[in-house]
Amino acid sequence: EDVVRSIAAGEAVVDLAGAVKELLENALDADATSVNVSVCVRAAGMHISLHVSDDGRGIAAYDLPLLCQRHATSKIASLQDLRTAHTYGFRGEALASISQVARVKVVSMVREHTHALEAAYHDGELVAGFPKKVAGNPGTTIVVEDLFYNMPTRRRSMRPASEEYRAVLDVVGKYAIRHHRKSFTCKKTGAVTSGGAGGGASGGVLVDLRTTGCDDARSVVRTVYGSSIAQELTELSVVLPEVHISGSCLVSNANYNAKRFVFVCFINGRLVNCAPIKRALLAVYGDLLPKGTYPFAYLDVSMPPEDVDANIHPTKSEVQLLHLNALLQSLSQKVSDRLKSAQT
Ligand code: ADP
Ligand code: MG
Repeated sequence: EDVVRSIAAGEAVVDLAGAVKELLENALDADATSVNVSVCVRAAGMHISLHVSDDGRGIAAYDLPLLCQRHATSKIASLQDLRTAHTYGFRGEALASISQVARVKVVSMVREHTHALEAAYHDGELVAGFPKKVAGNPGTTIVVEDLFYNMPTRRRSMRPASEEYRAVLDVVGKYAIRHHRKSFTCKKTGAVTSGGAGGGASGGVLVDLRTTGCDDARSVVRTVYGSSIAQELTELSVVLPEVHISGSCLVSNANYNAKRFVFVCFINGRLVNCAPIKRALLAVYGDLLPKGTYPFAYLDVSMPPEDVDANIHPTKSEVQLLHLNALLQSLSQKVSDRLKSAQT
């Protein structure tokens, strides 16, 4: 049964952090300036719920009935749009997948409206009696309850709750760096109350991450990874006009060395894995850092959407780049020059 569900869910959401990533991207697509994530894990990982609230533009009443159906997206109108989609989401799969493996509830209020609408979904379908009017604040709260309730194998293979939560914090922190002008919070609660935009249990719960008031990427890095990283960071620009690649990176100096390599990579605004870039950067630092120690690197580049193939993996996390070699060469050169000049 897990297998059937996995296929139905398109494997677009394979774990808790993956669900958070999709919901964050939706909030950012909706122009939210503030995104709050709260996770509730109870009974040794057997009951996981997730709240993501934003102050974005909200979901129109007419979008609610089909919200969790496959290919329901408000973000593309044509095939051309599909090729050049600049929003994070464009396939209308995330909410559909999540609603196959969890109970999804939405409370949303369009900015100009006077009331919010609440809707509940089961297997992609709107539950009878919804949507209904409720009080709320502008923006959207998505509540995902009992993640993987119908997938015993998936649930058994989940990491311990603390690790699952750490992965969530990690994703939120990375998006917070790129969107340093927006405010993100992430916390773990004992019990999640359902419903109510901007809701979630809050009484006495410690927030693990809060980037409110950070004014640049470096200060978010400091908040997320600690001040020792931020002190060592150099900003470099990456511009390859001939292949229309542009962006910037923040990299640590040769005298920063950590126990693990923190590599954060955004391509066209999407958090991705790009193993070749990671390897190239490690190679540049390789000779300069003591054995067993690592650098920090944050990369944010844009390129023509048609030069990025994000479809090799359903979670869209591992990408292939048309002009990878040009990018690798330029990046390695820049970082290496920088490290050498810092040493002399
Ligand atoms: P996609 O992002 O690919 O369009 P999703 O399944 O992630 O597909 O979301 C489906 C649709 O739900 C989106 O196109 C958008 O219209 C709406 N939506 C989801 N989350 C939000 C949100 N936080 N704020 C506003 N609209 C949202
Ligand atoms: Mg989406």
